[in-house]
Amino acid sequence: MEDLNNKAKIFLDLVLSSSNVVAFTGAGISTDSGIPDYRSPGTGIWEKIDQSVVSIDGFVREPFRYYDYSLELYAARKAAKPNIAHYLLAELENRGALKGIITQNVDGLHQEAGSGHVHELHGSLRQAVCLDCSALQSMDEAMDRVISGEPPPLCNDCGGVLKPNAVFFGEMLPRMPGSALLSSLAALISLLPSVLLFKYLLQILSRT
Ligand SMILES: [Zn+2]
Repeated sequence: MEDLNNKAKIFLDLVLSSSNVVAFTGAGISTDSGIPDYRSPGTGIWEKIDQSVVSIDGFVREPFRYYDYSLELYAARKAAKPNIAHYLLAELENRGALKGIITQNVDGLHQEAGSGHVHELHGSLRQAVCLDCSALQSMDEAMDRVISGEPPPLCNDCGGVLKPNAVFFGEMLPRMPGSALLSSLAALISLLPSVLLFKYLLQILSRT
């Protein structure tokens, strides 16, 4: 614990002395919003979904399989609301203490909480993209059609198959704006358990 406290103090000093702070978030920040993470025993998504379903090859071959699986998870995702951690980061940005967020998450909860600068490393499940013409469409609207019996949903423009605009296995990551400082802060944050991080983020908030 002492070691953790020392790391937290170093982290806090770095954050307070920097004018370019970026947060890096992953699945853990959204579990309190009811979105399961990927690997937790008993609740992890990979215990429910065959990974081939979310590979680009598997999706192109059998898109209806993905949509069958996604129906169950979609309900939880649609009901999810940002939690205090999302709102805290949005408030830090609002007060000028945070430049933005890099997230591995595809749930869009940072934006819903009010964060303005969010780079989604793995895309977003809130949008669907047409595999033929690349048009972007609302995933909610596409899922409404799946729920009413249209698996897979088709593009409104060209009739191509719609895929969630999130990165599937076998796909390239979207290009990221170049900035070394983003990844260095991300590495620092990963040193700390989120509860401890919270405590110190609150301190930062009280000083800005
Ligand atoms: Zn299309």
